[in-house]
Amino acid sequence: MDEYDVIIVGSGPAGLTAGIYAGRQGLKTLILEKGVAGGAGLMVPNMENYPGFEVVSGKQLIEYTKKQTLKYAEIKEFEEVTDIEILDKAKIKVSTQKNEYNSKSVILCTGTTHRKLGVPGEDELLGKGVFFCAVCDGPLFVGKRILVIGGGNTAVQGALFLDHIGSYVAVVHRRDELRAEKYLKEKLDEREIPIIWDTVLDEIKGEMLVNKVVLHHLKKDIKKEYDIDGIYIAIGESPVNEIAESIGVEIDKRGYINADKSQETNIPFVYAAGDITDGVNQWVVACSEGAIAALSAYDDLIKLE
Ligand code: NAP
Repeated sequence: MDEYDVIIVGSGPAGLTAGIYAGRQGLKTLILEKGVAGGAGLMVPNMENYPGFEVVSGKQLIEYTKKQTLKYAEIKEFEEVTDIEILDKAKIKVSTQKNEYNSKSVILCTGTTHRKLGVPGEDELLGKGVFFCAVCDGPLFVGKRILVIGGGNTAVQGALFLDHIGSYVAVVHRRDELRAEKYLKEKLDEREIPIIWDTVLDEIKGEMLVNKVVLHHLKKDIKKEYDIDGIYIAIGESPVNEIAESIGVEIDKRGYINADKSQETNIPFVYAAGDITDGVNQWVVACSEGAIAALSAYDDLIKLE
């Protein structure tokens, strides 16, 4: 069985940064990723708040970071962690659907997954007009009518991206005020992207592809059907915590991992970093937590020698 000092679960900004830091400390490091490296980071359209870049897309930043990480750590893509077993002090077995590994420590960077609306048509028409990643699926809707559901940063960034590539976009928000940051709200106004306030999506209709939606204006209590080609759902995230829970890592009420300032969890030699821990979901914060987790693992592992 292959032996590592650190196994990192997940390769978003937190996981990749943890890989750089752990590898540079001389730790034998493996990053396991269930999909392609980058995770949800790949879905982020243009960012204007990542230091060092006036504008950079998630995809670009992941490309640079992955290249840098590979100098210090091994990355295995399409290898989902199915089980973790704490065997002894600094002796952890990590199983995937393909392999088993031994590691002295584990850093959980499993992030979050998109929340669903739970309305009729959402599951049935997924990939047929319903989508959760503006950057990935948006280009299929150039010249078409799209509703963006949600009022947070992700929804507004997605709306701006879709508008930029040439879709006809309107944002549907359940309240009369956006949650998104001020600079994003201003951009929405600048681009004259309409916002349908106090409204929720009740149903998505279509046979092979989405062609209609039912919107419900909450204050007027009016339901109306509209012709539409695509629905981008951006109503927030839920933590991916199953593996953490299975080994007894402490989780808060909302499902996020409780990690301390050193990114340590309640289980020795198990650390957590990035969006899976509660706090500010920002790229730069995920990187910072990944770095701290790797350095904490190093500090704990050298004490064993
Ligand atoms: P979010 O901030 O939680 O916003 C979710 C939005 O969806 C809210 O406007 C919410 O409405 C709405 N919503 C939730 N459930 C709904 C439902 N069932 N039906 C209709 N609307 C619903 O999620 P997010 O935008 O994905 O952002 C997640 C985190 O990542 C945040 O901390 C955000 O700041 C961060 N982020 C940062 C950036 C950046 O560039 N700085 C970019 C993307 C994300 P209410 O407002 O009424 O609750």
